[in-house]
Amino acid sequence: MSKTIFARIIDREIPANIVYEDDLCLAFHDVNPQAPTHVLLIPKSPISSLDETANDDAALLAHLLLMIPRLATQLKLADGYRVVVNCGPDGGQTVDHLHFHILGGRPLTWPPG
Ligand code: AMP
Repeated sequence: MSKTIFARIIDREIPANIVYEDDLCLAFHDVNPQAPTHVLLIPKSPISSLDETANDDAALLAHLLLMIPRLATQLKLADGYRVVVNCGPDGGQTVDHLHFHILGGRPLTWPPG
């Protein structure tokens, strides 16, 4: 299976505007932002989607979720933000590497399209 674009970002084969990194995860600005702030948080391990997570991933998933408010603080999203995980074709997932969209910087409408 060929490497996803996010795996290539993790391996520094293509550039990204990285805002946070640790042993388990990486966060970087989305190349096609849908809000004034649009950051993607990804695990470094190659989990293809939320559907492909297992009990063994519990600690990693907790780490990712706990990182989100910390990143929101770092990104100065004091007025709020939205977290989106697109899953599968109907969910609009286009990159087969689990990622959390963190969107903010303007009021976001509901429901999504
Ligand atoms: P999704 O549609 O939920 O799979 O989200 C994939 C996201 O990755 C989209 O919002 C894209 O704009 C974003 N994206 C694709 N390629 C890159 C890249 N090279 N750097 C940053 N973001 C990217």
